[in-house]
Amino acid sequence: MSKPHIAFLGLGIMGSGMARRLLADGFPLTVFNRDAEKAKPFAAEGAHVAASAREAAANAEVIISMVADDNASRSLWFGEVRAGQAKGALAAAKPGAICIECSTVTVNWVRELAAATAQINCGFLDAPVTGSKIQAAAGELNFLVGGDSAALEKARPVLAAMSKSIVHLGPAGSGSLLKLINNFVCGVQVAALAEAMIERSGLERARALEVLANGAPGSPLLKAISVRMTTPDFTPNFLLKLMAKDLGYAIQEGSKLSVELITATAALEEFQRAIAAGHADQDMAAVIEPLRKK
Ligand code: NAP
Repeated sequence: MSKPHIAFLGLGIMGSGMARRLLADGFPLTVFNRDAEKAKPFAAEGAHVAASAREAAANAEVIISMVADDNASRSLWFGEVRAGQAKGALAAAKPGAICIECSTVTVNWVRELAAATAQINCGFLDAPVTGSKIQAAAGELNFLVGGDSAALEKARPVLAAMSKSIVHLGPAGSGSLLKLINNFVCGVQVAALAEAMIERSGLERARALEVLANGAPGSPLLKAISVRMTTPDFTPNFLLKLMAKDLGYAIQEGSKLSVELITATAALEEFQRAIAAGHADQDMAAVIEPLRKK
């Protein structure tokens, strides 16, 4: 059976790795990125480069979005209206196409998007990921999926080309909710590690960190981030401003359920302080910098 034609929207740190996995697996691919410079290399690698999300979606059987936040996602799917014509992907999506939102976004937005895709007889999945830049490039992400089983079964070979696991969690929005819970826990850990970084304690830092990393607090995240904090190396794997976005979204979801995420609120303050100090576009490990300078 021939492979479905895919439109991939958003070629940032994660999207570029994911799109390249699809090319490597032989999927016919059309890409679009707001900043056209980032899309250019894909032409030489075998993808068609579209001038708009709408153009990318026109012939696709599967449309995937991987962008920063709710606003970015909305602008790709719905698009601005120019001369009475919407420029977004949904304006051109064929009935029967599967629309997949992989960005970390809010449950409200995912539900709105799911309803809009249903109106044009398309399938829909929210499929945010865990794993970062390295896992995206290696095709080793984990998909947290919400949506109906029929759409997932159609999309499964496409998701499989980018991942090592696909977990179906329930109806549209379920993947996004778990992703926000996941990043709430990660964000709190990273902020706590920054506060714990022993630099002014008089302890020998390397030895102290070795004890933490090899003991109960030594999660894979703490191990990776402590290296970046101490080197220091803030080359973006996961942008600090995106972790702040996720903590904000998680706090919103919590409040809808009357759960006050006190630790997320405190962690968000640390990330906001780092943004104010100019670290928004560095790796989230840079959350330590304002604490160092105190
Ligand atoms: P990134 O490198 O900053 O890329 C962001 C992408 O969003 C770029 O393609 C950017 O386009 C696009 N974008 C931003 N604002 C836009 C707008 N208003 N309209 C259209 N496009 C817009 O971020 P990333 O790390 O790839 O993250 C992408 C998503 O994955 C985010 O939701 C993030 O939270 C999630 N995520 C990231 C990681 C990670 O470790 N990096 C892991 C799991 C999940 P331009 O190039 O034109 O700016």
